[in-house]
Amino acid sequence: MNRVDRFLKSVLACLLLYGLCAFAQNASIQEIHGIAVDNIDRSVKPGDDFHRFANGNWIKRTEIPPDRAGIDVFTRLSDLSSQRTAELIKELATSNPPAGSNLRKVADLFNSYLDEAAIEAKGLTPVKSNLDAIASIHDKKQLAHALGEALRADVDALNNTNYHTANLFGLWVAPGFTDSDHYTPYLMQGGLQLPDREYYTSNSESMQKIRAKYQPHVAAMLKLAGFSDVDARAARIVELETAIAKTHRTLAENEDIHKANNTWRRAEFTTKAPGLDWDEYFKGAGLSRVESFIVWQPEAFLGESELVASVSLESWKDWLTFHLIEAHAGVLPKALALERFAFFGQELSGVQQQRPRWERGVSVVNGYLGDAVGQVYAQKYFPPEAKEKAQAMVTELIAAFRKRIEALAWMNPSTKAEAEAKLSTLYVGIGYPETWHDYSNYEVKPGDIFGNIWRGDLSEYQRQVARLGRAVDRKEWSMTPQTVNAVNLPLQNALNFPAAILQPPFYDPEAPAAVNYGAIGEVIGHEISHTFDTEGSAFDSKGRVRNWWTPEDLKHFEAATAKLAAQYDTYRPFPDLAVNGKQTLGESIADLAGLSAAYDGYKASRQVAPTVDGFTSDQQFFIAFGQNWGEKLREAALRQQVMTDGHPPGEYRADTVRNIDAWYSAFDVKPGEKLYLAPEDRVRIW
Ligand SMILES: [Zn+2]
Repeated sequence: MNRVDRFLKSVLACLLLYGLCAFAQNASIQEIHGIAVDNIDRSVKPGDDFHRFANGNWIKRTEIPPDRAGIDVFTRLSDLSSQRTAELIKELATSNPPAGSNLRKVADLFNSYLDEAAIEAKGLTPVKSNLDAIASIHDKKQLAHALGEALRADVDALNNTNYHTANLFGLWVAPGFTDSDHYTPYLMQGGLQLPDREYYTSNSESMQKIRAKYQPHVAAMLKLAGFSDVDARAARIVELETAIAKTHRTLAENEDIHKANNTWRRAEFTTKAPGLDWDEYFKGAGLSRVESFIVWQPEAFLGESELVASVSLESWKDWLTFHLIEAHAGVLPKALALERFAFFGQELSGVQQQRPRWERGVSVVNGYLGDAVGQVYAQKYFPPEAKEKAQAMVTELIAAFRKRIEALAWMNPSTKAEAEAKLSTLYVGIGYPETWHDYSNYEVKPGDIFGNIWRGDLSEYQRQVARLGRAVDRKEWSMTPQTVNAVNLPLQNALNFPAAILQPPFYDPEAPAAVNYGAIGEVIGHEISHTFDTEGSAFDSKGRVRNWWTPEDLKHFEAATAKLAAQYDTYRPFPDLAVNGKQTLGESIADLAGLSAAYDGYKASRQVAPTVDGFTSDQQFFIAFGQNWGEKLREAALRQQVMTDGHPPGEYRADTVRNIDAWYSAFDVKPGEKLYLAPEDRVRIW
């Protein structure tokens, strides 16, 4: 159900590294207004390999940095955004903003993160009272209370899709599945340090290798934190996590919202999931007054609750201790931070070198005060004219979609009416949110990084809990302006396009309309398409879970899209590995629908770009689209993407131009060229 496009996988991979991505190189986004002519390889026929035609020279002259799995437009823009954000934060950190202001908090948080000497000098003192509290737990009732106190708002099932928390469970506060007008609590499975149940249960060679190194890592962390008998403790902790993992749903199961729609009244937890003292748990979590919850993975709640009863108190205390230290290793003495990186960075992700402290500090500030930084970022890098122009494009694209839906002969009027209602009520956020997060309850103290992190997590949790039952703000954003991404928020029927993606080469107010429609216009159309596809059809115009497609419409849609899946099945990046057309179908549909709508929008704008280096306006439209997907990946990374990602590799995303009639006339593509499709074989969905 993830709508965070294109880079979910690398984002997840980065989260394993303290939520931080490596800056591998200086960003080099060229100052040109239009297509990047230098990237085009004129020796390749567009009709044979459109991706290589549009990007071939860039591919030839680009080397993948040693600490990266690949490079593309998104990584280049992310580097640029990170550098800009870093500059803003560094400026603030030395400018002495007024006490109590958000900017002062940014400065104090950043500086306290950088002060490694203070961190070393304090040793384990900052975490001592937490460790003492764990040590003083005497029975399962107190354990339940402590587990409840550890609950945080650290998961997100549908927007930024994060199914992982190392706490026993995680809380997500969002519009309800059936009552989308009010904020509702969703509870999700948790309890693991490794990224997913597969790491504990899979028999694959790579997972076995990681497991063999995990237990020594647990022991090493406990030893560095001053504990004795660490091997026995580590064995108990890994045994408990393995038992927890076996109760978890798989990633694919997590994505099925129909399986997740389980409302449990608070009083029912004791009978539905016996073992954990739920009254104490909810008391610890400050949720005793909440009447009901949506439980995403009931079998995990049953299983984990049973484990609280059946596994010894000592094992649970060891587990709590280790999880506390592991979660905060980045702000504890260096020996702990290094041991954590050696396992999670080097062993698990293959990254050889840890990034400089200040770069990690930028990510910490983005994590805890992202809107405070984003507000300054948007002011500096996203002028009102850019917002206005982007808004006008969105309006054109929505109009183009509306026309396409109206024109569909096969769709029933009732389905069309709800599709129309979804378009009419769609909120599209451009650049930055209309209101900013309030950080007044978040106390940031100079020189207290552990406390700053602890209070940051807690104040976010309290902010979310305080919203329960309140009216939903459909215009609320789920991304910061400095994020290079775009997102569809199905429960809010909303889209967010942050400022950091609304810049060249995706979007440039000074570039011709043809180029902007081909680049960002297609991205916008792609996100709108998700509102109507097989996944979007689960949510109605009010964001409620309700299938509004008639069965025969759905059948027609499935038949049309099966043809597209079959087309993608023919793509083979390696002789022994083909793209799985079904796995990538939602994204392939969105790419094709987005491109079709973007082309309509561009035509409706009636703007013809002047010829550039011999390329016509229409050619520039398609080249701009093809250049969105210019990428270079290491073989292992490409194989992994083909096997595990819902997004097809960039090459095939660019090649979907072969389904659009206007591309044939733009480049005079003829039968016999490799991408040529006879008109009846071109897939037309909307
Ligand atoms: Zn998508």
